[in-house]
Amino acid sequence: ATPIAVMVATGRGAQLGIFLKGHQTLDTSRLIDTVVFDKTGTVTEGTLSVESIHPAPGFDADEVLARAAAVEAASEHAVGAAIAAAVTEEHRAEVTDFTTEPGRGVSGIVNGQRVRVGSPRWASHALVVPAELARARRDAEAQGKTVVYVVVDDVPAAAIAVGDTIKTSAATAIAALKAAGLRTILLTGDNEGAARAVAEAVGVDDVIAEVLPDEKVEALRALQDEGHAVAMVGDGINDGPALATADLGLAIGRGTDVAIGAADVILVRDDLRAVPAALSLAGATQRTIR
Ligand code: ADP
Ligand code: MG
Repeated sequence: ATPIAVMVATGRGAQLGIFLKGHQTLDTSRLIDTVVFDKTGTVTEGTLSVESIHPAPGFDADEVLARAAAVEAASEHAVGAAIAAAVTEEHRAEVTDFTTEPGRGVSGIVNGQRVRVGSPRWASHALVVPAELARARRDAEAQGKTVVYVVVDDVPAAAIAVGDTIKTSAATAIAALKAAGLRTILLTGDNEGAARAVAEAVGVDDVIAEVLPDEKVEALRALQDEGHAVAMVGDGINDGPALATADLGLAIGRGTDVAIGAADVILVRDDLRAVPAALSLAGATQRTIR
Protein backbone atom coordinates (compact mmCIF):
# COMPACT_ATOMS: atom_id res chain seq x y z
CA ALA A 1 0.00 0.00 0.00
CA THR A 2 1.19 3.51 -0.74
CA PRO A 3 1.77 5.37 2.53
CA ILE A 4 -0.40 8.46 2.83
CA ALA A 5 2.67 10.56 3.68
CA VAL A 6 4.12 9.79 0.26
CA MET A 7 1.04 11.00 -1.51
CA VAL A 8 1.25 14.26 0.44
CA ALA A 9 4.85 14.68 -0.60
CA THR A 10 3.88 14.06 -4.19
CA GLY A 11 1.24 16.78 -3.98
CA ARG A 12 3.64 19.34 -2.51
CA GLY A 13 6.28 18.16 -4.93
CA ALA A 14 3.90 18.81 -7.79
CA GLN A 15 3.62 22.43 -6.65
CA LEU A 16 7.40 22.74 -6.86
CA GLY A 17 7.48 21.13 -10.28
CA ILE A 18 8.70 17.84 -8.87
CA PHE A 19 7.16 14.63 -10.16
CA LEU A 20 8.03 11.46 -8.25
CA LYS A 21 7.59 8.37 -10.41
CA GLY A 22 7.19 6.02 -7.46
CA HIS A 23 7.31 6.04 -3.66
CA GLN A 24 10.23 3.61 -3.89
CA THR A 25 12.48 6.57 -4.65
CA LEU A 26 11.78 8.16 -1.29
CA ASP A 27 13.37 5.33 0.68
CA THR A 28 16.83 5.83 -0.81
CA SER A 29 16.89 9.60 -1.08
CA ARG A 30 17.18 10.20 2.68
CA LEU A 31 20.62 8.58 2.54
CA ILE A 32 21.93 10.71 -0.32
CA ASP A 33 25.23 12.45 0.51
CA THR A 34 26.46 13.27 -3.00
CA VAL A 35 24.71 14.98 -5.91
CA VAL A 36 26.19 14.54 -9.38
CA PHE A 37 25.18 16.96 -12.15
CA ASP A 38 25.55 16.51 -15.89
CA LYS A 39 26.77 19.78 -17.41
CA THR A 40 25.25 20.47 -20.83
CA GLY A 41 21.48 20.87 -20.71
CA THR A 42 21.42 20.29 -16.96
CA VAL A 43 23.54 22.98 -15.30
CA THR A 44 23.59 24.91 -18.58
CA GLU A 45 20.62 25.72 -20.82
CA GLY A 46 21.90 23.40 -23.54
CA THR A 47 21.10 25.87 -26.31
CA LEU A 48 24.56 26.16 -27.77
CA SER A 49 25.78 28.54 -30.43
CA VAL A 50 29.02 29.02 -32.34
CA GLU A 51 30.89 31.95 -30.81
CA SER A 52 34.13 31.97 -32.78
CA ILE A 53 36.13 30.02 -35.33
CA HIS A 54 39.93 30.01 -35.42
CA PRO A 55 41.40 28.67 -38.69
CA ALA A 56 44.83 27.09 -38.87
CA PRO A 57 47.34 28.86 -41.15
CA GLY A 58 46.39 28.21 -44.79
CA PHE A 59 42.70 27.55 -44.06
CA ASP A 60 39.73 29.85 -44.65
CA ALA A 61 37.38 30.17 -41.66
CA ASP A 62 34.14 30.31 -43.68
CA GLU A 63 35.13 27.41 -45.87
CA VAL A 64 36.07 25.17 -42.93
CA LEU A 65 32.90 26.15 -41.06
CA ALA A 66 30.77 25.26 -44.10
CA ARG A 67 32.35 21.81 -44.26
CA ALA A 68 31.97 21.25 -40.54
CA ALA A 69 28.32 22.36 -40.73
CA ALA A 70 27.73 19.94 -43.59
CA VAL A 71 28.98 17.00 -41.54
CA GLU A 72 27.14 18.13 -38.40
CA ALA A 73 23.83 18.48 -40.25
CA ALA A 74 23.29 14.76 -39.62
CA SER A 75 24.31 14.96 -35.96
CA GLU A 76 21.89 14.85 -33.03
CA HIS A 77 24.36 16.32 -30.55
CA ALA A 78 23.85 19.84 -29.15
CA VAL A 79 27.36 20.84 -30.26
CA GLY A 80 26.64 19.49 -33.73
CA ALA A 81 23.32 21.32 -33.93
CA ALA A 82 25.06 24.61 -33.04
CA ILE A 83 27.66 24.14 -35.77
CA ALA A 84 25.09 23.06 -38.37
CA ALA A 85 22.95 26.11 -37.52
CA ALA A 86 25.90 28.46 -38.13
CA VAL A 87 25.60 27.90 -41.89
CA THR A 88 22.41 28.13 -43.97
CA GLU A 89 21.32 24.93 -45.64
CA GLU A 90 22.18 25.99 -49.21
CA HIS A 91 25.78 26.61 -48.15
CA ARG A 92 26.22 23.11 -46.79
CA ALA A 93 28.03 20.70 -49.07
CA GLU A 94 26.94 17.12 -49.63
CA VAL A 95 28.24 14.53 -47.19
CA THR A 96 28.82 10.84 -47.74
CA ASP A 97 30.03 8.09 -45.43
CA PHE A 98 28.76 9.87 -42.30
CA THR A 99 29.71 8.28 -38.99
CA THR A 100 29.14 9.42 -35.42
CA GLU A 101 31.05 8.45 -32.30
CA PRO A 102 29.12 9.21 -29.09
CA GLY A 103 31.10 11.43 -26.73
CA ARG A 104 33.73 12.08 -29.40
CA GLY A 105 32.41 13.60 -32.62
CA VAL A 106 31.37 13.06 -36.22
CA SER A 107 33.04 12.35 -39.54
CA GLY A 108 32.13 12.36 -43.23
CA ILE A 109 33.44 12.86 -46.75
CA VAL A 110 32.93 16.41 -48.08
CA ASN A 111 34.20 17.36 -51.57
CA GLY A 112 36.30 14.21 -51.64
CA GLN A 113 38.00 14.87 -48.33
CA ARG A 114 37.53 13.24 -44.91
CA VAL A 115 36.26 15.86 -42.47
CA ARG A 116 36.23 15.11 -38.77
CA VAL A 117 34.59 17.39 -36.19
CA GLY A 118 34.88 16.56 -32.53
CA SER A 119 36.62 16.82 -29.19
CA PRO A 120 40.23 17.97 -29.59
CA ARG A 121 41.48 14.79 -27.95
CA TRP A 122 39.63 12.57 -30.42
CA ALA A 123 39.82 14.67 -33.60
CA SER A 124 43.54 15.48 -33.36
CA HIS A 125 44.70 12.17 -31.93
CA ALA A 126 48.28 11.45 -33.13
CA LEU A 127 48.29 14.66 -35.21
CA VAL A 128 50.48 17.75 -34.87
CA VAL A 129 48.27 20.68 -33.85
CA PRO A 130 49.39 24.19 -34.92
CA ALA A 131 50.19 26.48 -31.97
CA GLU A 132 47.45 28.91 -33.12
CA LEU A 133 44.78 26.24 -32.67
CA ALA A 134 46.13 25.01 -29.34
CA ARG A 135 46.16 28.58 -28.01
CA ALA A 136 42.65 29.36 -29.28
CA ARG A 137 41.46 26.17 -27.63
CA ARG A 138 43.10 26.94 -24.27
CA ASP A 139 41.74 30.50 -24.17
CA ALA A 140 38.18 29.49 -25.07
CA GLU A 141 38.10 26.54 -22.67
CA ALA A 142 39.31 28.73 -19.81
CA GLN A 143 36.18 30.84 -20.42
CA GLY A 144 33.96 27.78 -20.11
CA LYS A 145 33.48 27.22 -23.85
CA THR A 146 33.31 23.84 -25.53
CA VAL A 147 35.96 23.63 -28.24
CA VAL A 148 35.91 21.21 -31.14
CA TYR A 149 38.55 20.73 -33.80
CA VAL A 150 37.81 20.40 -37.48
CA VAL A 151 40.30 18.07 -39.16
CA VAL A 152 40.48 17.77 -42.97
CA ASP A 153 42.29 14.71 -44.34
CA ASP A 154 44.23 14.39 -41.08
CA VAL A 155 45.25 18.06 -41.06
CA PRO A 156 43.89 20.18 -38.15
CA ALA A 157 42.04 23.00 -39.96
CA ALA A 158 40.22 25.00 -37.30
CA ALA A 159 39.10 25.27 -33.70
CA ILE A 160 35.44 26.16 -33.16
CA ALA A 161 34.33 27.60 -29.81
CA VAL A 162 30.75 26.83 -28.85
CA GLY A 163 29.09 28.67 -25.97
CA ASP A 164 26.22 27.91 -23.66
CA THR A 165 24.43 29.82 -20.87
CA ILE A 166 24.45 28.71 -17.26
CA LYS A 167 20.93 28.36 -15.81
CA THR A 168 20.10 31.20 -13.44
CA SER A 169 18.80 28.69 -10.87
CA ALA A 170 22.07 26.69 -10.76
CA ALA A 171 24.09 28.65 -8.18
CA THR A 172 21.15 28.91 -5.74
CA ALA A 173 20.45 25.19 -6.05
CA ILE A 174 24.10 24.23 -5.48
CA ALA A 175 24.36 26.57 -2.47
CA ALA A 176 21.27 24.95 -0.91
CA LEU A 177 22.69 21.45 -1.42
CA LYS A 178 26.03 22.44 0.11
CA ALA A 179 24.26 24.10 3.05
CA ALA A 180 22.50 20.77 3.63
CA GLY A 181 25.94 19.13 3.85
CA LEU A 182 25.88 17.43 0.45
CA ARG A 183 28.88 17.12 -1.85
CA THR A 184 28.27 18.30 -5.42
CA ILE A 185 30.07 17.02 -8.51
CA LEU A 186 29.94 18.08 -12.19
CA LEU A 187 30.17 15.05 -14.50
CA THR A 188 30.68 15.73 -18.20
CA GLY A 189 32.04 14.48 -21.47
CA ASP A 190 33.20 18.01 -22.16
CA ASN A 191 36.76 19.24 -21.63
CA GLU A 192 38.29 19.82 -18.20
CA GLY A 193 38.79 23.58 -18.73
CA ALA A 194 35.18 24.29 -19.67
CA ALA A 195 33.93 22.00 -16.90
CA ARG A 196 36.06 23.78 -14.27
CA ALA A 197 34.92 27.22 -15.44
CA VAL A 198 31.26 26.20 -15.17
CA ALA A 199 31.82 24.46 -11.81
CA GLU A 200 33.49 27.54 -10.41
CA ALA A 201 30.71 29.82 -11.68
CA VAL A 202 28.01 27.84 -9.88
CA GLY A 203 29.99 26.67 -6.83
CA VAL A 204 30.14 22.93 -7.56
CA ASP A 205 32.76 21.20 -5.35
CA ASP A 206 34.37 18.75 -7.78
CA VAL A 207 34.69 18.03 -11.49
CA ILE A 208 34.88 14.74 -13.38
CA ALA A 209 35.46 15.72 -17.04
CA GLU A 210 36.19 14.13 -20.42
CA VAL A 211 34.26 10.97 -19.55
CA LEU A 212 32.81 8.89 -22.35
CA PRO A 213 29.08 8.03 -22.14
CA ASP A 214 29.61 4.60 -20.55
CA GLU A 215 32.22 5.99 -18.18
CA LYS A 216 29.51 8.10 -16.53
CA VAL A 217 28.09 4.89 -15.08
CA GLU A 218 31.55 3.81 -13.91
CA ALA A 219 32.09 7.16 -12.20
CA LEU A 220 28.84 6.73 -10.27
CA ARG A 221 29.67 3.14 -9.34
CA ALA A 222 33.08 4.28 -8.04
CA LEU A 223 31.37 6.78 -5.74
CA GLN A 224 28.91 4.12 -4.58
CA ASP A 225 31.79 1.69 -3.94
CA GLU A 226 33.30 4.34 -1.66
CA GLY A 227 30.11 4.09 0.37
CA HIS A 228 28.31 7.15 -0.96
CA ALA A 229 24.64 7.28 -1.82
CA VAL A 230 24.47 9.29 -5.00
CA ALA A 231 21.78 11.36 -6.68
CA MET A 232 22.31 12.08 -10.38
CA VAL A 233 20.72 14.97 -12.28
CA GLY A 234 20.77 14.73 -16.08
CA ASP A 235 18.94 15.41 -19.32
CA GLY A 236 20.60 13.60 -22.20
CA ILE A 237 20.47 10.26 -23.98
CA ASN A 238 23.98 9.76 -22.59
CA ASP A 239 22.68 10.21 -19.05
CA GLY A 240 20.10 7.38 -19.13
CA PRO A 241 22.38 4.61 -17.81
CA ALA A 242 23.84 6.92 -15.14
CA LEU A 243 20.36 8.02 -14.00
CA ALA A 244 19.38 4.38 -13.67
CA THR A 245 22.59 3.52 -11.78
CA ALA A 246 22.30 6.37 -9.29
CA ASP A 247 20.55 5.76 -5.96
CA LEU A 248 18.21 8.53 -7.04
CA GLY A 249 17.94 9.71 -10.66
CA LEU A 250 16.48 13.14 -11.39
CA ALA A 251 15.74 14.06 -15.01
CA ILE A 252 15.19 17.51 -16.45
CA GLY A 253 11.62 17.51 -17.80
CA ARG A 254 12.74 19.23 -21.00
CA GLY A 255 15.34 16.49 -21.48
CA THR A 256 15.35 13.41 -23.66
CA ASP A 257 12.83 10.58 -23.36
CA VAL A 258 15.72 8.28 -22.45
CA ALA A 259 16.65 10.41 -19.41
CA ILE A 260 13.03 10.77 -18.31
CA GLY A 261 12.44 7.04 -18.67
CA ALA A 262 15.48 6.14 -16.58
CA ALA A 263 14.90 8.64 -13.75
CA ASP A 264 13.00 8.34 -10.46
CA VAL A 265 12.15 12.02 -10.27
CA ILE A 266 11.19 14.43 -13.06
CA LEU A 267 11.93 18.14 -12.63
CA VAL A 268 9.04 19.48 -14.67
CA ARG A 269 9.99 23.15 -14.58
CA ASP A 270 13.66 22.97 -15.55
CA ASP A 271 14.43 24.94 -12.36
CA LEU A 272 17.40 23.42 -10.50
CA ARG A 273 16.11 24.71 -7.14
CA ALA A 274 13.77 21.74 -7.36
CA VAL A 275 16.78 19.44 -6.75
CA PRO A 276 17.38 20.44 -3.09
CA ALA A 277 13.60 20.69 -2.70
CA ALA A 278 13.08 17.13 -3.94
CA LEU A 279 15.78 15.77 -1.64
CA SER A 280 14.54 17.55 1.47
CA LEU A 281 10.95 16.73 0.60
CA ALA A 282 11.87 13.07 0.40
CA GLY A 283 13.75 13.31 3.70
CA ALA A 284 10.83 14.95 5.45
CA THR A 285 8.46 12.31 4.13
CA GLN A 286 10.69 9.57 5.43
CA ARG A 287 10.53 11.01 8.95
CA THR A 288 6.74 11.20 8.74
CA ILE A 289 6.44 7.57 7.65
CA ARG A 290 8.65 6.27 10.49
P1 ADP B 1 28.21 16.04 -22.39
O1 ADP B 1 28.56 15.14 -21.25
O2 ADP B 1 28.63 17.46 -22.10
O3 ADP B 1 26.75 15.95 -22.78
P2 ADP B 1 29.12 14.32 -24.63
O4 ADP B 1 29.63 13.11 -23.87
O5 ADP B 1 27.88 14.16 -25.38
O6 ADP B 1 29.11 15.62 -23.65
O7 ADP B 1 30.25 14.77 -25.66
C1 ADP B 1 31.56 15.01 -25.17
C2 ADP B 1 32.35 15.81 -26.16
O8 ADP B 1 32.46 15.10 -27.41
C3 ADP B 1 31.76 17.16 -26.55
O9 ADP B 1 32.08 18.16 -25.61
C4 ADP B 1 32.42 17.39 -27.89
O10 ADP B 1 33.73 17.85 -27.71
C5 ADP B 1 32.48 16.00 -28.48
N1 ADP B 1 31.35 15.71 -29.38
C6 ADP B 1 30.36 14.83 -29.18
N2 ADP B 1 29.51 14.82 -30.23
C7 ADP B 1 29.94 15.77 -31.09
C8 ADP B 1 29.50 16.27 -32.35
N3 ADP B 1 28.41 15.83 -32.97
N4 ADP B 1 30.25 17.23 -32.94
C9 ADP B 1 31.34 17.70 -32.35
N5 ADP B 1 31.81 17.29 -31.17
C10 ADP B 1 31.13 16.33 -30.54
MG1 MG C 1 23.44 16.91 -20.97
